[in-house]
Amino acid sequence: MVGQTLTSVAIIGGGPGGLGTAIALSQLPFLEVTLYEKHSESREAGAGISLSSNAWKVLDLLGASKGVKGGSKSNTHQRNAYTGKILSVVEHPENSAVDQRGAIRARRTRLQQALLAEVPKDIIKYSKKLVHLDDLSDRGVRLTFEDKTEVLADIVVGADGIHSAVRRSLFPEHKLRFTGNTAFRVLVPKSRLNSLPEITSTTAWWWGKAGHVYFSDVDDETENNNPLFEITIRSYHEPEIPGKTVGWGIPAANEKVASRVTEFDRRVRDAVDTVEEGQWWEFAGFAGPRLDHITAWDKVALIGDASHPLSGAFGSGATFAMEDGWILARALELTHFTGRPLSDALEIFSQIRSPYYNRMYEHLDKVQEKLQKVQSESTNFDEFLETKIDSFLYDDKDFIYKNDISKVWDAYLEANEV
Ligand SMILES: Cc1cc2nc3c(=O)[nH]c(=O)nc-3n(C[C@H](O)[C@H](O)[C@H](O)COP(=O)(O)OP(=O)(O)OC[C@H]3O[C@@H](n4cnc5c(N)ncnc54)[C@H](O)[C@@H]3O)c2cc1C
Repeated sequence: MVGQTLTSVAIIGGGPGGLGTAIALSQLPFLEVTLYEKHSESREAGAGISLSSNAWKVLDLLGASKGVKGGSKSNTHQRNAYTGKILSVVEHPENSAVDQRGAIRARRTRLQQALLAEVPKDIIKYSKKLVHLDDLSDRGVRLTFEDKTEVLADIVVGADGIHSAVRRSLFPEHKLRFTGNTAFRVLVPKSRLNSLPEITSTTAWWWGKAGHVYFSDVDDETENNNPLFEITIRSYHEPEIPGKTVGWGIPAANEKVASRVTEFDRRVRDAVDTVEEGQWWEFAGFAGPRLDHITAWDKVALIGDASHPLSGAFGSGATFAMEDGWILARALELTHFTGRPLSDALEIFSQIRSPYYNRMYEHLDKVQEKLQKVQSESTNFDEFLETKIDSFLYDDKDFIYKNDISKVWDAYLEANEV
């Protein structure tokens, strides 16, 4: 590259999206990549994360799938939370057909570490909280950090999650609101639940009226003889508490968590009671209007939760964020080697990813409509649950879980005769 000017890229945020993007972009020799993370080290709050065939595809492309292990989700149950009645059992033979690793639930830290291991170390700058961006036209973008330092970059990737500062700079009128849907999450040693085999033997959702509880393995027991087990409680109608309702991770007291499941089946309450004080973490759900644009100024792209906060609706948001980063890399590579401007790369990125996210939103709207219809027509909870589980499990979501991002790129090249 002697004599050639490198294009500087600033990635904001070191979550799955930012790390995935950093891996993909740092493989392009014409780019100089720096990742800015607000925390002083790489960390991932939360409990487990689901990874399906779409995740394996992109992790393979990033060279980061090797270290990712977790508990199998091959046997999942849906239950009525009050009676414990099993309403649906799904074994996932289709997973093995698509990818023999199948769907797993892994510790979030596992994914984070696997990605981090593939990012060139010297490109990550910690304790750099972005506060603002300015468009300097032909001179690029000026980034201002909380520590009052500034840098210039030719391209900025906003991978800074749902409360994105990048998005705030681009679209200041876009405001988030608390949805009332809060997740309480914990990982407990599975041995603590030995007396509750019905809880630990499957991945299960126990559905109630104002919330549900999710139980899952997060470790591959063939490599870990002291496995952890995830309990997540989703509570749909939490009050907003000024100053206390935050985006991602505050401790929650046992009493508060237990109060969300007092009417649930004894086995659920017993499982919740095994958690030691100080272990629960609370994650408040936020949402905002859907964005019409995921790029701006011809040099800034939003990826992952910064552009499409789906609040865990499909249990695949980390994969979407990594797919975004990989596609952005392909678009930059294509435009570079065909002598086109950077703005074309952002346009290609948006052309490929926006319709995909729109399809997800359409799916969510359709499900919402169905549920509202059944709720207005019947007060029978079991009937409502049946519809909910049906939409949750059986509506066609192959376009998500079986997505092969490299084929998506090939299809773009073919359609555009590149
Ligand atoms: C309850 C729940 C369950 C979920 N379950 C799943 C699941 O099973 N599977 C799945 O794939 N997804 C799941 N998701 C979604 C998933 O967690 C997100 O979609 C994913 O983490 C998005 O990745 P990201 O990199 O875009 O953002 P994030 O993971 O939010 O990372 C953003 C990063 O940016 C940093 N940052 C933020 N602001 C700044 C700033 N100003 N300056 C510098 N750095 C900054 C943060 O510290 C963080 O490191 C779930 C979500 C919820 C709420």
